[in-house]
Amino acid sequence: MQQRILNETVNQDNQKILNTQKVLKEKNEELNQFAHTIAHDLKEPLRSMQAFSHLTISKYKDSIPEKGQEFLHHIQTSSERMALLLDSLLEYSQLGKGKQKSVFSVKELVKELEKDLSQLIQENEAIIRYNGLPKIIGYELEFKQLLQNLIANAIKFRKDNEEIEVKIKANEKDKHWEFLVTDNGIGIDSKHREKIFTIFHRLHKNKFPGTGLGLANCKKIVEIHGGDIWVDSIPEKGSTFYFTISKNLEAAPINE
Ligand code: ADP
Repeated sequence: MQQRILNETVNQDNQKILNTQKVLKEKNEELNQFAHTIAHDLKEPLRSMQAFSHLTISKYKDSIPEKGQEFLHHIQTSSERMALLLDSLLEYSQLGKGKQKSVFSVKELVKELEKDLSQLIQENEAIIRYNGLPKIIGYELEFKQLLQNLIANAIKFRKDNEEIEVKIKANEKDKHWEFLVTDNGIGIDSKHREKIFTIFHRLHKNKFPGTGLGLANCKKIVEIHGGDIWVDSIPEKGSTFYFTISKNLEAAPINE
């Protein structure tokens, strides 16, 4: 009798969890749709602003005073920036759509990334070190983007006059893989360590270029892998980004 009551309670709790997951999934889908619609629909009026400011400059250049031309150039630069942000937002909202599960070697992916990022690596004379990277089950395209963002950030947020060293490591745990991407860059103050994963959140806006979506993308990719991402950092010494990838992807129902 007691066993039956216990089983019923467990079943009810499981059902509640499933319902909550379903609601979360729907809300996530709504948010993605919202971001997609906004980014998509705002591009149209933006294109027309860009076209008309371009037309004004090219047609009336000689009759517009210098200051006026300068203002028009500001409009052009800002609208280019806005177009870039909208494209990044569109990309963010589409992330994970059509994802395909496969077995792949993280070591091979890093080798590919060394080629893809060779210009950035060479220009900055960065050294990428890795060993013991495993084969995992995951979404390869998205996983590659995740690593690419972290490596590119590790190089971008460098200290002046110091050789850049990026180390990539993996630890096997019971139910997941833990990955570490460590750099010797400028580091991140503890008060920003959670906010940097939200969209458009950027520090050092004037010193380094960017859209503020790289780490938000990383977070979304980690979540579709049933994992978590966080950072440990000492300002002026460097940062280690940790992320986990579940060994059981079926247990990652959110954000599909
Ligand atoms: P973006 O690189 O486009 O600015 P991200 O979302 O990739 O945007 O990163 C958000 C912010 O987190 C960055 O503006 C930067 O201040 C900080 N950040 C990210 N990676 C690092 C890093 N490896 N070292 C220091 N700061 C970092």
